[in-house]
Amino acid sequence: MSEAALYIVATPIGNLGDITARALDVLRSVQLIAAEDTRHSARLLQHFGIETPMWAVHDHNERGQADRILQRLKGGENIALISDAGTPLISDPGFYLVRTVREAGLRVVPVPGCCALVTALCAAGIATDRFRFEGFLPAKVQARLQRLESLVADTATLVFYESPHRILDSLAALRDVFGGERYVVLARELTKTFETIHGDSLDQLIPWVEHDANQQRGEFVLVVQGAEAPAADDLDGDALRVLEVLLEELSVKQAAALAAKLTGVKKKLLYQEALRLKGE
Ligand code: SAM
Repeated sequence: MSEAALYIVATPIGNLGDITARALDVLRSVQLIAAEDTRHSARLLQHFGIETPMWAVHDHNERGQADRILQRLKGGENIALISDAGTPLISDPGFYLVRTVREAGLRVVPVPGCCALVTALCAAGIATDRFRFEGFLPAKVQARLQRLESLVADTATLVFYESPHRILDSLAALRDVFGGERYVVLARELTKTFETIHGDSLDQLIPWVEHDANQQRGEFVLVVQGAEAPAADDLDGDALRVLEVLLEELSVKQAAALAAKLTGVKKKLLYQEALRLKGE
């Protein structure tokens, strides 16, 4: 470690054996560890015999702490940022701090490792060439539906984080908007004793979760198969031309609805094609 740097260090998401050798080296040798919850991280550090002092840096104090950390980095000290689990900044605090340090021209060094979304994706058996990480769905019913409606035609794999008290509500909202046939993999308690990775259509998956209280406990990643891309021959040339003309004047939603009335082709198909034409 030559020039002072802020190290962004990934920690395990359950199985402590997943910490990397480099993460341990960095956590031992820095002068300070900025941790989301110092009591939580104390257990991790104690397990590995690491005695580096910690500061709490969380959503509610990040701005103030960023300035203090910057001063210490400028003074030549090395500092590590960790979160409660996995990779900091991925649905976790740290964005403001990283930006502040980078804007000050100081080094930010990633020390990669566990991340729940990548862990779920690599075992889900759903295409990973294009995926869209959506983090947590909004808690409010209306906002959640709106978010899902904006994703219904997305052909990329979708990845969501979810907590035990909202898992059933979110699965139900997914079925309402995406339909019961959409294939979803529920990845629960990854790397832990009760790890479960189970995939099925929403129509089958929801009763499976409902009927087993154990499947409603712990931490979840939902991996949702992307929408089927409309096959070119599902839309005949006439319907496509009508849609293209309407799109010059109307919104995607309006053009799809009117084209469906004029041509008799399914609105959903036209809507997906309209999004594709608009490059959305
Ligand atoms: N920074 C973390 C990462 O790299 O994945 C994510 C932090 S976010 C606050 C916590 C969420 O991540 C949980 O609610 C859950 O959705 C997901 N998660 C974390 N650990 C998990 C695990 N072992 N199994 C399944 N999901 C997990």
